[in-house]
Amino acid sequence: MIDKSILFKVSNSNSNDAKIKKVVYELDKSFFEKFKKESTNNEYLCICSGGTTSGCAKDNFITVDLRKNYNQIKFDKKTGIINVGGGVLMNDLLKNLDKFNRTFPIGLSTLPGIGYILTGGISPLSRRYGLAIDNVISVKGFFGNGDYFSLNEEKIIEGEELKIMEGIKGAAPFFTIITEIGLKTFKSYPIKIFEGFINKNELEELIIKSEEFPPNMSIQWIFSDQIYIYIVAEIKTEKDKILGEKYTADLNKYSSLKIRDHKSFNNVRFFPKELNLFELNSNNHSEVISLLGNDLKNNTKDFITTLSEINISKPNKSCYVASQQLGCESSKKNKYSSLFIHRECSWKPWIYASWEKDNYEDKNLALTWMNQSWNKLKRFFPYIHMAQLHNHLNSHKEEINLAFGNKLENLKLLKKFYDPRNILPPL
Ligand SMILES: Cc1cc2nc3c(=O)[nH]c(=O)nc-3n(C[C@H](O)[C@H](O)[C@H](O)COP(=O)(O)OP(=O)(O)OC[C@H]3O[C@@H](n4cnc5c(N)ncnc54)[C@H](O)[C@@H]3O)c2cc1C
Repeated sequence: MIDKSILFKVSNSNSNDAKIKKVVYELDKSFFEKFKKESTNNEYLCICSGGTTSGCAKDNFITVDLRKNYNQIKFDKKTGIINVGGGVLMNDLLKNLDKFNRTFPIGLSTLPGIGYILTGGISPLSRRYGLAIDNVISVKGFFGNGDYFSLNEEKIIEGEELKIMEGIKGAAPFFTIITEIGLKTFKSYPIKIFEGFINKNELEELIIKSEEFPPNMSIQWIFSDQIYIYIVAEIKTEKDKILGEKYTADLNKYSSLKIRDHKSFNNVRFFPKELNLFELNSNNHSEVISLLGNDLKNNTKDFITTLSEINISKPNKSCYVASQQLGCESSKKNKYSSLFIHRECSWKPWIYASWEKDNYEDKNLALTWMNQSWNKLKRFFPYIHMAQLHNHLNSHKEEINLAFGNKLENLKLLKKFYDPRNILPPL
């Protein structure tokens, strides 16, 4: 039975338009028992933190909305650790940290919630500070079987707890609901940004240059009818300052690039709608698929040609391909045990497909374009970053395999044991 009076507002229109069964705000053991008794066989819970993905609310499914009762934020000045609720947005995390001159490697938008952290969390600062999951030091929450847990990395010695922590870092949504998370934070330093519209040849040149960037620098770009880039440099050390000057001299030759200085990473906003990089339409629905791959090196020219083909074949002006750069600190394999297994990867491109809502022909065209573009890009970026759950799409199984590889069996075991009734999104 669908409750038509439900008021559920999130920043993605797919979920906003969903005819959800019920919204739940509070979790305890009895909720899980009741859900077990009353749910149908294939029914699982949708979890909403930032509410930016199509998985946070669906027709005829119950949503656990963590934003209302799990939005606590507490910063410990002594340790530099911040504890945040499972429904906290990156915007609120940064706002709070800013008061203490601290920051956290959030992604390209302040809109996402804790889903950003749990699914890996690739930031323009990841080359220096690692992925968001690399900075998780404690977690509290419920397993799908209804049991409460609380884990602290410093107190975990070995065995089962270590396996659970590993699974939570990169694959938490499949077997847990996280209600609180403890994060390491970093002192804020000035950020220098080189940004602007460039052409294809310049993108090719800059991709090649960026593969030699030091850890304090990264490039992010969007390729649509126009190309826009951001080169981000954190200026923390003397060496950063010297390199900053060297790169400023070099990047000055791209006359369209502007240099902007920001007091801290907390003040930077990427790809604002004022740039009109693609057509924003509130009547559209969308899906995103995130890929992972290594340095492009000699394949860069070929890659730019492929991107141009993809751009020409897009079904409408709301679709695009973009990318962010990781590597350096995020590639340190042995330091952090997690289910983000493709540590060697240095590029995370994503394909954004959008269509007029309720227009099935348009939807079909957009999703076909997304899959065809993915196929074209696979030779450069063979893996998946599981940032969006696509269990409603045909590509789900392949995405799961390409995201978790030889650790998929470990994840399946965790799911079997801690979410035996599959009340969380299926693998
Ligand atoms: C504008 C924009 C920019 C982005 N930029 C980046 C970027 O730079 N780098 C990057 O890595 N990603 C980026 N992403 C991807 C984003 O981080 C992921 O899609 C993330 O999963 C979104 O989390 P959410 O909490 O906002 O979404 P939601 O839709 O609320 O949640 C997403 C999924 O995560 C699970 N989940 C969320 N919270 C919890 C919880 N507390 N416990 C258990 N499961 C939970 C849910 O099952 C849900 O299906 C971006 C997304 C957007 C919309």
